[in-house]
Amino acid sequence: MSKHLQKPPGVPLREEDFEAQRVLSVMYRPKMRYSWATGVAIGRFLKGLRAGKIIGTQCAHCRRIVVPPRVFCEWCFRPVNDWVDLPDTGIINTFSVSYISTDTTKLKTPIIPAVIEIDGTTHAGFLHVIGEAKPETLKIGTRVKAVWAESTKRRGSITDIRYFKPAEWKP
Ligand SMILES: [Zn+2]
Repeated sequence: MSKHLQKPPGVPLREEDFEAQRVLSVMYRPKMRYSWATGVAIGRFLKGLRAGKIIGTQCAHCRRIVVPPRVFCEWCFRPVNDWVDLPDTGIINTFSVSYISTDTTKLKTPIIPAVIEIDGTTHAGFLHVIGEAKPETLKIGTRVKAVWAESTKRRGSITDIRYFKPAEWKP
């Protein structure tokens, strides 16, 4: 018999152990604070969101613009230093209709996560949600525009954009 197929040590729990409350569970809510280093690119991107701007980077070699910004072009394998202000419009590249929220509860009104290609960018998916839209009216290529949180409520977070809504075509 292979070592991997041997019975593990210990005694497995049985359903009656739970019913007889021989197994205890304790809810532990730690009180912790933490900070997170965003890095150069995402830090600048989040600052831009707080100011109501979408900021991307452009590779000096291939001229590709991406958002969220990166400091390295994975096409050219070169560092990227050019920052560009982008419009808050784009098209839906793909989307999903979800009747389950991010905390796994069931929803009557679905959320619509989408990958959005911001105008001016190339193959740079921007993950967000679609609002003010019925799922059946959406399709790949639907034009969308950001709906921003009030400026006093922005805090340098992706949620500074509340959602993207279908927009009129303006070439
Ligand atoms: Zn490049």
